[in-house]
Amino acid sequence: MRIIDNLDEMTETARGWLSGGSVGFVPTRGHLHTGHLALIQAARQECEISVVSIFLDTTILGSGEDPAAYPQYLVQDLQLLTSANVDVAFLPRAGDMYPPDFSTYVALTGPLWERLEGASRPDYLRQIATGIVKFFQLVRPDIAYFGQKDAQQVAIIHHIVRDLNIDISLRVLPTVRESDGLAVSSSNAALSPAQRQAATVIHRALLAGKALVENGERRPASIEKAMADLVAREAAVKLDYAAACRPDTFAEVDTAAPGTLLVIAAYVGKARLVDNILWTSDGRWLL
Ligand code: AMP
Repeated sequence: MRIIDNLDEMTETARGWLSGGSVGFVPTRGHLHTGHLALIQAARQECEISVVSIFLDTTILGSGEDPAAYPQYLVQDLQLLTSANVDVAFLPRAGDMYPPDFSTYVALTGPLWERLEGASRPDYLRQIATGIVKFFQLVRPDIAYFGQKDAQQVAIIHHIVRDLNIDISLRVLPTVRESDGLAVSSSNAALSPAQRQAATVIHRALLAGKALVENGERRPASIEKAMADLVAREAAVKLDYAAACRPDTFAEVDTAAPGTLLVIAAYVGKARLVDNILWTSDGRWLL
């Protein structure tokens, strides 16, 4: 596996690939887990060249994310990427990605940008949107891989690719879960055993929302209240939001119908966890 930490070297390497095989790209913030590995395996299977970036933008860490905690995982992350037969690990330096005079940002408009994650973490979304465009320019992938767990980020990236005519296909893979339903996340490492147990309420609340829908409930407010009430039963879990929304625009739905996303964000101790399930337009559930 080749390790590239220099932006010019990445650009030169990507230029060399232009006439070669297809390039699959998995952007990550490191501290790799089985959720990341699912994306990496898909990239390996579908593309001739696989690139995984590890970049932690310390200006946009969520609560519970300790910048000092991430570098300690780098050796282990690189071993994992080597065993997964990844071709290139791209590890840009923060100072190269965002020099002191950096001043160009990508921003969207509308509910996708303003509601839910947008209301809670506007700066984070701006960095995600800007960062992904920079990575797309540097790596020039044919296909980029993302996890459904971060549904609002995925929807934002879909919009950016469409609005800015970026010639990249996006693949979104299902959320990888622990056996008790908790979505696998780097943030789970920050949980105490009791918090880890309490955190399962997030997935249980999503399933409670699904059960209501299956029993014929269509009012978003009732579904949202049922999810919020269940989360409220766990004292260790502080709800940020529980919502039924459109998966592409994140606008509120008037009535729950196939094509509705149920989404929850909550704080557990220092960690902020997000999760969702999707009632697909053909009537299935993506859990
Ligand atoms: P992160 O390193 O947390 O920024 O995540 C990098 C990529 O992995 C993003 O596309 C995430 O949506 C995806 N990802 C994180 N956790 C999971 C999971 N449990 N299942 C599937 N994909 C995930």
